[in-house]
Amino acid sequence: MTRKLVANAILQLSKDYGLYDAPALRARVNGASARVQAVKRIRPNVDARDNASVLLRDPRTIEFGTIFLAGLKSDEAMVSVLGHELTHVASGQSDLLRPLFRAIARRAAGRINLSISGQRAEELACDLVGLMAARQFINETPSWEPPPRRIARAVEHNCVDDDGSDEDHLSPRNTIRALFALDIDLARELLTTNTQASTQRRISLTVRAAAF
Ligand SMILES: [Zn+2]
Repeated sequence: MTRKLVANAILQLSKDYGLYDAPALRARVNGASARVQAVKRIRPNVDARDNASVLLRDPRTIEFGTIFLAGLKSDEAMVSVLGHELTHVASGQSDLLRPLFRAIARRAAGRINLSISGQRAEELACDLVGLMAARQFINETPSWEPPPRRIARAVEHNCVDDDGSDEDHLSPRNTIRALFALDIDLARELLTTNTQASTQRRISLTVRAAAF
């Protein structure tokens, strides 16, 4: 399911950023989509500890450190993180999605006044695709749980005490700032109050009761 959601999110972003007009650009997106579909396995790996990764020379398997895996306690978190890794696979060693990654980073950088280049652009774009995949997953799988709680799980891994960055990644807090700047519906979705959600729930329970 996540493979399909990721392919759709990449297509949507490519259109939104004007990177699906020319045949050469379309070929990149279609190639990326095919690479996503080729992933077949998820493998737990004790030695990978708290990381998830994919070897680009063997892009059929995504490896999850068991410490990392133990922290993913919801389907929403799993779809978000898998979406991130699948986006790396989609771009692959030939950097198919490089134009998209750069366009996303440029927009985020302009909005939060932070320079985002190189591998950091790719990592941010992977998080954005993961978020979009999780959102669509939530839309397609109804639940009694309040939607803000579910969407929060898709970005929860960025809520940390130790806000460290490295050469390849923005810090988690800057990642989430960039996501808010890129996806302006996210704040509204997260901040819809639980009161509203529980009212909706009461109404639908009443409707069900009336139907029987
Ligand atoms: Zn990554």
